[in-house]
Amino acid sequence: MKPIGPIPAGFTAIEGELAISGRRTSELVEEAGRTPLFVYSKSMIEQRLADLRAAMPDGLKVNYAIKANSYAPLLEYISPLVDGLDIASGGELEMLQELGIDGSRISFAGPGKRDEELEAAIRAGVTLNLESENEARRALAISEKIGVTPRLAIRVNPDFELKGSGMKMGGGAKPFGIDAERVPALARQIVDAGCDWRGLHIFTGSQALSAEAVTEAQSNILDLAIRLANEAGVGLPKLNMGGGFGIPYFNGDTPLEIVRVGNALRELFKKHSQDIAETELFIELGRYLVGEAGVYLTRIVDRKESHGETYLVTDGGLHHQLAASGNFGTVVRRNYPVAIASYFAAEPTEVANIVGCLCTPLDRLADKAHVPKADVGDIVAVFCAGAYGASASPSAFLGQGPAAELLV
Ligand SMILES: *Cc1c(COP(=O)(O)O)cnc(C)c1O
Repeated sequence: MKPIGPIPAGFTAIEGELAISGRRTSELVEEAGRTPLFVYSKSMIEQRLADLRAAMPDGLKVNYAIKANSYAPLLEYISPLVDGLDIASGGELEMLQELGIDGSRISFAGPGKRDEELEAAIRAGVTLNLESENEARRALAISEKIGVTPRLAIRVNPDFELKGSGMKMGGGAKPFGIDAERVPALARQIVDAGCDWRGLHIFTGSQALSAEAVTEAQSNILDLAIRLANEAGVGLPKLNMGGGFGIPYFNGDTPLEIVRVGNALRELFKKHSQDIAETELFIELGRYLVGEAGVYLTRIVDRKESHGETYLVTDGGLHHQLAASGNFGTVVRRNYPVAIASYFAAEPTEVANIVGCLCTPLDRLADKAHVPKADVGDIVAVFCAGAYGASASPSAFLGQGPAAELLV
């Protein structure tokens, strides 16, 4: 038997069956017309944001990084609840433009922005978080050509990182951002060129569960940003402090204590109050806002035995759940939180391997999980599926195609 991850709080059972936003999974599957299906709960997203805002210092703004989940109804729902939206491609910009979201609420980070992407963003009034001097030159040339003043910020590659974070994106040589010591000169050039200077962006990592680690990174970020802006003599109209707030996926993971993070940040803001009096302060979160609000539902199509082990074979798999299968930035595969949705309230009675329908040994949803006995036709739920599920899995693999999605 292998442990499964912690099922996020907020899910209930109706007559034994898993309910999401108060609706039974069987009813949701019927509404979608098929499995596999992602269901995202509006009330859980709203609650998450309310708790976050209550914990964070007044005035701290929260952006949503849409790469975590860019399902259009979810974007439409979350957009008025957050202070801005962070994108990392021209394709993501198009998604937001289709929903009528104003460019002034969008910032665009990410290496390798193409000229067409830069142009579309500048025309739309999007803030570009510049990733290199070359990108800055191209952005300036494009804005001159089209006669639009660009909104420019610099993404800094800091010389520290978010400790214990799942994915390190700062510290040492990196494709992200501009090395800190070269930032003041570029900031000066941007201001001298008459651009709309939008300050600095410092992102240090993802998926941190330690309040101490987040606070340490935030403290370093504030120190660095203030120092760089002072050195450049350009002011700091805006500082995007990154995010990195993680969610518990695995057995033994504990939730990030956001009240501690918020209290420490309040102290930091006090300490630096003179230097940041004119600065709009942001954090940018993806998975923390939507990850736990999503569930992946997949139907059991076969139940078989092999060498004494039970396999529940589902109609879903890694093509929608790359991370849960252990193939997205993990070294050792561990079980995500999973349940038999059809018997959510029942006690576990057997140990089963839950696998997907792809013809590869990589396609595992849960190894040796202790679950209530389930059979063909029953529904399996994989939790923590609201972020980097549909948006980050190879749904075209083996001709499977995307899962259905519902926001309820
Ligand atoms: C991916 C990313 C995020 C979101 O990360 P999460 O772990 O989902 O919160 C935020 N900012 C930047 C720059 C990113 O690349």
